[in-house]
Amino acid sequence: MVSPGELRLIDTLLEDDAFEPDISDDGSVNYSAAADLLDEIDDDPTVVLERFATRGVLADGFVSKVYVCPECTSEGLQYTTVCPACGDPQAIETTVLEHVCGYAGPESEFESEAGYRCPDCEQDLESVDIEKKLRYSCQECTESFDVPDDRLRCRECSSMFPPLETIERVLYRYTLTPEGETWLARQKAARRTAAEALEERRFETEIDTTVGDDGSRRVHVLAEDGLMGERRIVSVHETPDAESVDEFCAFAESVGAHPVVVTTSGTVETDVAKRAEGSELTVLTFDEDGESTLEPEYDTTESVGAYRPGLFERLTAALEVPGRNGRQ
Ligand SMILES: [Zn+2]
Ligand SMILES: [Zn+2]
Ligand SMILES: [Zn+2]
Repeated sequence: MVSPGELRLIDTLLEDDAFEPDISDDGSVNYSAAADLLDEIDDDPTVVLERFATRGVLADGFVSKVYVCPECTSEGLQYTTVCPACGDPQAIETTVLEHVCGYAGPESEFESEAGYRCPDCEQDLESVDIEKKLRYSCQECTESFDVPDDRLRCRECSSMFPPLETIERVLYRYTLTPEGETWLARQKAARRTAAEALEERRFETEIDTTVGDDGSRRVHVLAEDGLMGERRIVSVHETPDAESVDEFCAFAESVGAHPVVVTTSGTVETDVAKRAEGSELTVLTFDEDGESTLEPEYDTTESVGAYRPGLFERLTAALEVPGRNGRQ
C-alpha cells in the first residue's frame, strides 16, 4: 500500500532532485527532508525509501558507509586502538629502549645516576648498546607491542567491537526513476479519479487530508455528504493486502466512514476479495485504458480468473448516497 505520506514523499521528487542522508556531528544519520514529508503512522524514512528503491520507483546511488553499534544500534562509531592482550584502549605509543639482552621497557626504567642501566641484566650501558623504538605500551596490563588491535567504540553505550563485527550501513541518495514517474502518475490519477467519482455523486471531497478527532491520520481522499451524514474514505493500493485493508477498515469504522479501496494493479489478495463480498468494504480497480475509470472488478493474487461481483451494482452501492436515487 502507498500511504498518503509516502505518495507525498515520492511526489516531492518531481521538483526536488534527491533525498540525501544528513550525517550529524555525532555520526548519526537522518533523511530529514524525507522524514518531514511522512506522517506519524509511516515507517522510518530509511525503511520507506529502501522499500521504494526495491520496487524500482526510486534509484539508490552510493554515498558512503557508516558503522552501527551491534549492542545499541547507535551510528557514528569512533575508531580506537586497543591492547591486544587485555583489550583496553589505554595502550599508548611511547618511546621504549631495548637492550641487546632482549629486555625492552620505557626510558625511565633504564635511567640511572651514571647514565643508562638495564633493569633486567643490570648492565651499565653506553647509549650505543641500546635501541630507541616507538612501541605501544598498555597502561592497564603493562604489555608492550608494536601493532595494536583495531576497535570501533560506541559513543552511546561505550561498547567496543572489532570493525568487522559492527554493522555496516550503506548510505544512498534516492532519486525518482522513469518507472517511478509512471508509477507516481498512476497512483495520483487513481486518487483523482476516485475523488471525481465521489464528487459526481455529490460528495464534497478533499485529497490528502486529515480525518478523525485528533486529526492525526491522513487519507488519500475524504468524501463527505453533510446533508445525508455520509462519509467515505479512499485508500489507494498497488495490490491491496489483507493486513493493511483490515487496518484501514477498522480506522474507517472508528471515524464513521465507509472504506473504499482502489487497486491500481487490478489485483487484490484473496482475503481482501472475501471481505469485499460483504457490504462493509468496497474494492475498485483503477483502469487507465482510454478514459480513467474505476471498475468494480478485480483479480485476486491467488487465483487467475477474474473476480467479478455484480458489475456496477457494487460501484453504485459504494459511492452513491443510499436513498438519494429513490427521492429524486
Ligand atoms: Zn552502542
Ligand atoms: Zn639487559
Ligand atoms: Zn593491556
